[in-house]
Amino acid sequence: MQRASGKEQQLIAKYQERFADPAGGEPLSYAEGAELFSAFRKLVRRLGRIARISDNYQNEIKILVLELQDALAKVKELKGCLPICASCKKIRNDDGYWKQLEQYLAENSDALLSHGLCPECTANYLALSRHDTEQTPAAVVNPAHLLDEADLDDPVIRRFLPLLNDRNLVSTPLFADFNALFQRYVRLAKRLKRIARISDSYQSQLHNLKTQLDHASRTDYLTGLANRRDMYDILAAEHNRALRHGSSFAIVMVDFDKFKEINDNHGHDAGDTILVAAARAIKTNLRKEDTFARWGGEEFMALFPELDREMAFQAAEKVRELIAGIAVDVDGTTIKPTASLGVAIFIPDESLAECIKRADAALRTAKNSGRNRTVLHDGH
Ligand code: GH3
Ligand code: MG
Ligand code: MG
Repeated sequence: MQRASGKEQQLIAKYQERFADPAGGEPLSYAEGAELFSAFRKLVRRLGRIARISDNYQNEIKILVLELQDALAKVKELKGCLPICASCKKIRNDDGYWKQLEQYLAENSDALLSHGLCPECTANYLALSRHDTEQTPAAVVNPAHLLDEADLDDPVIRRFLPLLNDRNLVSTPLFADFNALFQRYVRLAKRLKRIARISDSYQSQLHNLKTQLDHASRTDYLTGLANRRDMYDILAAEHNRALRHGSSFAIVMVDFDKFKEINDNHGHDAGDTILVAAARAIKTNLRKEDTFARWGGEEFMALFPELDREMAFQAAEKVRELIAGIAVDVDGTTIKPTASLGVAIFIPDESLAECIKRADAALRTAKNSGRNRTVLHDGH
């Protein structure tokens, strides 16, 4: 029972005596009557609210009871079909049990119990979607949107495909809308897959192009050697390695002698032919760890890792001899080019620019001392 509030308690205390003995007491004044009436009205309202809440609870309880009864009936039904031996409690080998269990699950399963389609159903639905079966005439799938095995990887298609064969849905007016929606989804899913495939192929083409572009940007167009940009990266990597591990390397600057005269006398193409021939001869005669690059114009550069002064000088001499051994025939005239070379051996802690500068200085010395020779820079 609802407890009286503080205000009601006061009213009770105030009027209790007068109500206890109505004959002896003063009659109620209008104001007192109004006060009591207002308190009464509040109580009625409060009672109404409580009654409504209690009705709701009662309804919910009723529903729960019905659900429980239903669940209990189902459990009983299931219990009836469990082939447990009343004596040993083992499960009897009873084919009827599996049928009943299947039936039970079919009637009572919800989405949580469903784990995709069995192979038979998959085959059925595929056949249905190909329109080569009379099973469910209403489930017309546009041939343009035929499903294939790969489409069944899509969880949405897998989930809703069974509805195409659901006789309850087929007979409702909703089915046409569902079918249209499903087909639209299939169409979109197929299109999305196609776009994904195209995008994959674009990406791999882009990747190939990028690799080719990268290679082209590091290769000299005339000779096919590493160009100055690539050579600079290779030099920087070798320089870092030398700084970290205390290894050494040699830089060799190569500049053709009087090349301008060759061009002037035999034509620019003859000059080009010499450059290409020199590149090929030298490239094929160096160790695989060596690099020979076109530094610019008729200037080339060689990088020899891990060679001491003597060996670096000899390697550079070999380059010079290879160039001196080239003979190019132009209009019945044989052109025999020569080149001058400057060699610098890396000095620990010096910068790459300093090392290149010393190789260049050695080359100047070679030019000034008569050309067609190799000069080794002797340190700082
Ligand atoms: P030096 O012995 O002093 O080096 O004389 P040089 O004539 O070779 O002088 P320099 O190295 O200054 O001149 C380079 C010449 O090489 C100028 C240019 O016409 C020519 N040359 C530069 N690049 C190319 C090229 O790609 N093809 C051809 N055919 N000639 C080039
Ligand atoms: Mg030159
Ligand atoms: Mg030059």
